Amino acid sequence: MPAAVGERYLIESPEPLVGALLLAGYRVIGPQAGDGAIVYDEIEAAGALPRGLTDEQSGGHYRLKDGDPDRWFDYVVGPQSIKKYLFPAHQKLWSATRTPDGFDISPAGDDYPKTAFFGMRACEIAAMEIQDKVFDNGQFADSGYGRRRANSLIVAVQCARSAETCFCASMNTGPRAQSGFDIALTELDEGGFLVECGSEAGASILGGLDLAGALDGDWEAALDVTRNAAAMQTRRMVGNVAEVLREHLDHPRWDEVADRCLSCANCTLACPTCFCSDVEDVTDLSGDHAERWRTWDSCFSLDFSYIHGGAVRPSTKSRYRQWMTHKLSSWHDQFGSSGCVGCGRCIAWCPVGIDITEEAAAIAAPLDVTGE
Ligand code: SF4
Ligand code: SF4
Repeated sequence: MPAAVGERYLIESPEPLVGALLLAGYRVIGPQAGDGAIVYDEIEAAGALPRGLTDEQSGGHYRLKDGDPDRWFDYVVGPQSIKKYLFPAHQKLWSATRTPDGFDISPAGDDYPKTAFFGMRACEIAAMEIQDKVFDNGQFADSGYGRRRANSLIVAVQCARSAETCFCASMNTGPRAQSGFDIALTELDEGGFLVECGSEAGASILGGLDLAGALDGDWEAALDVTRNAAAMQTRRMVGNVAEVLREHLDHPRWDEVADRCLSCANCTLACPTCFCSDVEDVTDLSGDHAERWRTWDSCFSLDFSYIHGGAVRPSTKSRYRQWMTHKLSSWHDQFGSSGCVGCGRCIAWCPVGIDITEEAAAIAAPLDVTGE
């Protein structure tokens, strides 16, 4: 049956949808079990999806576990995000080869095929839209990022459960993706999937499938799925956190968190919105060939703030404060939104379990001036 933007349908399983994406020539990137976690990699059939697995997450803790063997998507986000595809961790920018007259400079090619991201969660879509503002902003656009985004199709999966680390509901970024997808699936409690068609590209894929129209009751059941996931969330970000942080740059909590923070940068590498990078030039031993590479960096590394004469942020305290105040406060001034989508990755993947919601709440709480 032909599909239309804004319409809703039912399908039994994700298998025909993965097949239709492959048939349409997409490279399909989806969740898989790898190294004891849910990671993103290329899939060639729905059988590669980690069906029957679930996860357990808390501060500094992540475990994959066996779950209901019939459920396809009962896990939430793992350590990776699709940032690794749209903003690669290690990317050649250009190369130069010596010629009799000087150097030939060649921009690096971009071998990014037409790609479908399958199984993206609401927070992940929100993070991608934040990175769009960073990299595809018109004034200082990264043309490679823009090309990759234009060549990407988004198949969302609406979350049926939340991990202990999730707080997207308090960031208004989930657990239901309202937009930003071409196709969205909700795994219904009774089995089967409600399918939302979000774009013409999505309609063109769905049009090749054997779909049944969804009824109002099916839509209500789908809404219940994400309402239940929201109700499971125990963490939340404090309100007006941008102002709270701006007004408490000298709060004693910054010293306390700095005593625990290892300055390891795990939180920034796992974060789907962090975008700091470094640029390195390399040359071969002959000096005839040179390349310029961009690599992920982190505001937690000492060298990141190095300018002539030394690093601007020499202490762990100043680096942690920079990260958190940028993410939750000055990001609003710079990009018009929070830099945090409440995915909880920085909590689960911090080796000492530092929790951004707990730190924000401690700074927002009235100070005990009695010293008792
Ligand atoms: S700061 Fe933490 S919770 Fe917020 S988007 Fe980044 S990793 Fe997710
Ligand atoms: S907050 Fe945690 S993950 Fe981030 S730099 Fe500090 S120790 Fe590493």
